[in-house]
Amino acid sequence: MDACYDRVQAALQRLKLGDIAQQLDHVAAQAAREEWSYLVFLDQLLAGEQVARAGRDVAMKTKLARLPFVKTLDQFDFAAQPSVNERQVRDLATGRFVAHGENVLLLGPPGVGKTHLAVALGVAAISQGMGVYFLTVADLLDMIERDAKAGRLQQRLQTLCKPKLLILDEMGYFPLDAVAARFLFQLVSRRYTKGSMIITSNKSYGEWGDVVADQVLASAILDRLLHVSTTINIRGQSYRLREKRRAGIFHDLATTPTEEVLAPTDARA
Ligand code: ADP
Ligand code: MG
Repeated sequence: MDACYDRVQAALQRLKLGDIAQQLDHVAAQAAREEWSYLVFLDQLLAGEQVARAGRDVAMKTKLARLPFVKTLDQFDFAAQPSVNERQVRDLATGRFVAHGENVLLLGPPGVGKTHLAVALGVAAISQGMGVYFLTVADLLDMIERDAKAGRLQQRLQTLCKPKLLILDEMGYFPLDAVAARFLFQLVSRRYTKGSMIITSNKSYGEWGDVVADQVLASAILDRLLHVSTTINIRGQSYRLREKRRAGIFHDLATTPTEEVLAPTDARA
């Protein structure tokens, strides 16, 4: 019996079924106690292995995604943000848009939850087994500068095409020079219909021409991004400053005019 047990343990290790190896004693004892059939016993062991593997996969993908923080949709106070349609966001969280290579654009002034929602959609995609990568436009510009010097731009392009979902945060704070604009155009073109992007921006589409050095490239980028996409316009005041405003410490200094500036809501093409 001991020899058999040792052989099973060794085989489980060799087959990289470490979680079954760990749970074997406990599950076998329960099976004996409750008189399980052989099939139920096997089912329980395999289920345990699958749950553990899925957990490890999520942990690894979360690490690789380089999210600035981990927040979920359940932590988003939809009541505080009436300009966001909860049903639409929950629908996006099903991951269908990622499976279809569609894009999501989150527009609005600072502090209204654009990054939170982008991250939460990323977390949802990861929980469904999809690869996600998060970077800010500032990170991207740094990368482009370094890679251009090292002659590695094409490699970077390939790397950024790999994740099923690429989140590009904070479009609009920094201008994109000609090299960066070309890079973004190539990135968007290569990912077009194959991989999804979530882009957050404090600028309306009309203003992207001021951010991207080349107007023609700016409209070519937008053309591809918006072709199959969902735009969520978030209005209102910064959630970050809400508490302070409530306490009367802060007035409306940080809010930028948005309703007039931003593009029409929900341009699902
Ligand atoms: P933005 O990217 O639009 O500038 P963030 O997503 O960074 O804003 O939000 C700022 C902070 O406020 C974050 O900590 C975020 O989690 C929180 N926050 C914003 N909106 C909400 C909301 N509706 N419910 C809960 N937390 C929110
Ligand atoms: Mg943000």
